[in-house]
Amino acid sequence: MKILIISGARPQFIKLAPIIDEILQNDEFELYQLHTGQHFDENMSKIFFSELNIPLPDSNLDINRGTHAELVGRMLIEIEKILIEQKPDAVLVAGDTNSTIAGGLAAVKLQIPVIHLESGLRSFDYRMPEEINRRLTDHLSSLLITTSSTATETLISEGIKESWIFQTGDTMVDGILNNLDRAVEGSKMLTNLGLEEKDYLLLTLHRQENVDDKERLKAILETLNELNYKIVYPIHPRTMNRIQHFELGYLLKSENFILTDPLGYLDFIQLEKHAKMILTDSGGIQKEALTLKVPCITLRDNTEWVETIEQGTNILAGAEKEKILAAVTYFNNRINLEKIKWDNPYGDGTSSKVMVQEILKRFKEDKLTIPTHYMIE
Ligand code: UDP
Repeated sequence: MKILIISGARPQFIKLAPIIDEILQNDEFELYQLHTGQHFDENMSKIFFSELNIPLPDSNLDINRGTHAELVGRMLIEIEKILIEQKPDAVLVAGDTNSTIAGGLAAVKLQIPVIHLESGLRSFDYRMPEEINRRLTDHLSSLLITTSSTATETLISEGIKESWIFQTGDTMVDGILNNLDRAVEGSKMLTNLGLEEKDYLLLTLHRQENVDDKERLKAILETLNELNYKIVYPIHPRTMNRIQHFELGYLLKSENFILTDPLGYLDFIQLEKHAKMILTDSGGIQKEALTLKVPCITLRDNTEWVETIEQGTNILAGAEKEKILAAVTYFNNRINLEKIKWDNPYGDGTSSKVMVQEILKRFKEDKLTIPTHYMIE
């Protein structure tokens, strides 16, 4: 089976790495990796291939500047050319970025079956570009891989046939569990930053709705300045750009912040593992926090990862000062920490293996085909 995998952004390299690893170990696959170039800095792209021992992509489109329409439009044109040349049996896309929708759309228009990893997630918020991308990609896919029963039920309620869905765990959990020892023992991050275990918070921020809105970004940074904690903050290039543009750099000058460039995966995992709490607007980090049993405060108004909220590992605090401070106070209380359910709803680290076997099985049984009769009968 010839499979063409499309990636472009940091979380995709991480969630696809365990799958690529499985595919490379199986002689029945031929793999072609296509990188759209969405993320291009060394520490937002290349480092993940070297740290995770994944071969570099076969081609890189280097598409990373412009509006959403310009990016998706150019990706569509270039991805189509490669699909025509490579003639894969299926295209695998992951998550919810512009690379995901562009890859899925280019493939299905050429009648190449699309496999969508992380299907069925919804924030029910069309202000988020990610929600548009993930919803449309689900509805053009032939095999929809979900990570929870909530996601499976969402797809069924939207008219997707149950036989097109395959539910298993999450490959980001595979990634973190399989690399934890290496990260905890190998990384020197804690020592280099002069930190002790559990005496700091870890922050990431990059969602468009937080960082493109000056007032919202300012409110978050002002609130973080009020906390009595050291806050390690690896700054995403997009956010750095916005902070400079809005002239908010003064809010990062206090003693609270320990600023770094975006970090490699192993260094970042070490910081996650030993943080007292994680504050983030990332999708993946909410799951990683649960996996590492570290309380998470999500700086968004909604989340697709509803299980983390239900189990009490994660609190939605938006950008509101009172909510953020209350969440920190809540997780500071030992009695509250004891109420948290830490068992992992996203699998035990073996999901990629199961997924790759399922893909091959469906292909061999001639079930990986373009959907017809897509409405509920
Ligand atoms: N990550 C990393 N270095 C960093 C910040 C994050 O390796 O400096 C990893 C993190 O462990 C997780 C992924 O990047 O696996 C999350 O990516 P991101 O937050 O960019 O995207 P999202 O998950 O929100 O789509």
